[in-house]
Amino acid sequence: MAHQKRYLLDEQDIPTQWYNIQADMPVKPLPPLHPVTHKPMKAEDLAEIFSMECSRQELDTEHAWIDIPEEVLDMYRYYRSTPLVRAYALEKALDTPAHIYFKNESVNPLGSHKVNSALPQCYYCKQEGVTNVTTETGAGQWGAALSYAAKVFGLEAAVYQVKISMQQKPYRSLIMRAFGAMVEGSPSMSTRAGKDIVTRDPMHPGSLGTAISEAIELARTTPRCKYTLGSVLNHVALHQTIIGLEAEKQMTMAGEYPDKVIACFGGGSNFGGIAFPFMRHSLLDGRHTEFIAAEPDSCPKLTRGRFEYDFGDEAGYTPLLPMYTLGHDFKPANIHAGGLRYHGAGVIVSQLIKDGYMHGMDIPQLESFEAGILFSRTEGIIPAPESCHAIAATIREAKKAKESGRQEVLLFCLSGHGLIDMTAYDSYINGDLQNYTLSDEDIVRNLRTVPKV
Ligand SMILES: *Cc1c(COP(=O)(O)O)cnc(C)c1O
Repeated sequence: MAHQKRYLLDEQDIPTQWYNIQADMPVKPLPPLHPVTHKPMKAEDLAEIFSMECSRQELDTEHAWIDIPEEVLDMYRYYRSTPLVRAYALEKALDTPAHIYFKNESVNPLGSHKVNSALPQCYYCKQEGVTNVTTETGAGQWGAALSYAAKVFGLEAAVYQVKISMQQKPYRSLIMRAFGAMVEGSPSMSTRAGKDIVTRDPMHPGSLGTAISEAIELARTTPRCKYTLGSVLNHVALHQTIIGLEAEKQMTMAGEYPDKVIACFGGGSNFGGIAFPFMRHSLLDGRHTEFIAAEPDSCPKLTRGRFEYDFGDEAGYTPLLPMYTLGHDFKPANIHAGGLRYHGAGVIVSQLIKDGYMHGMDIPQLESFEAGILFSRTEGIIPAPESCHAIAATIREAKKAKESGRQEVLLFCLSGHGLIDMTAYDSYINGDLQNYTLSDEDIVRNLRTVPKV
């Protein structure tokens, strides 16, 4: 019999609860602190800018399982389950004894995993009487997912997109507009924060930091408007566990269990999404699985950052979070994996690294695209530049398995496709891309801006 290539779940087998790893962590994450008073924040405090339910989920260290609302499940069924795929052609090209599986989160209307959290975030806002949502976006995957989800639940969306990204990648802002969102390049003239930045520096190209500051200001100054975030926070990783929970069932269909689980790492949501359901068995049953978070070597917060309380944005508006950070005003090299250029790691993941349950792996830009090209030519899917990092890490592990002759089972998350990132591939193919390596001095210098708490 031919070997099965793809594993899908029937609709009635799609998980109906998310997994909250905080409940099972031996050392709980430290609380977020108020940006000015430095006092620990409660859910009610977070709810000034986020929906109440997401604020509760953020700090929930009690309930391991959280019901997915029926209305969200209905929308998950538009594209879930996503396929678990055995990468036979990639295995063959690498001549490895390893079995390589990937969870394909690129097959939904928006092309990345981000919609898994955009839907519940908009649903909870709607439930709580909110009419408008706002957010920031860099390359635009999160803005696109949020624009769609807002439309689904009848909310108005305003997205601040980093100005330079908007100019370099016009297609994603067009996608947001097609879904009915208002898109502004940040820094804009529509907020106090934006005006101040533009007055100081009329040519400011914008950054995630400026866009977060503008979106938070809009949420604070507009009645019935909430702010949403596509990564980093605990509730976002919670929603993404649908990825790993499905994968666990699908791996069982394939008769295997992963020895290594791998994902690329920006703020940690697709990593947490695929890893936490498997890590549950490491925490509770002592199962040995290696968890690898692949980050760009030009933004190495997991391997070379410091565990500190730091801000999530450049202006210092967000709560202080205990995380591995390179400093909140770290300016990463302009690599094409825009979603991996964030200065800090999520709170849960940071604690898990500290406690030795997982580790980071640094991937140079050229190695990531080399991996993406090999994957395209073998498996027929052009991966997002972010996802290329997970593939590169997987290839490293598959080569190690070949050297040692071990028949390991590798599972990675294909967080998105790269069809709107073809200019990046064009640059790679033309030989115009380069690696960026940071010196220890650069890292130490930048960490001086981390606030004292
Ligand atoms: C946003 C994004 C990422 C990085 O975000 P995480 O929260 O770390 O998952 C990775 N891949 C794709 C395709 C993205 O859009």
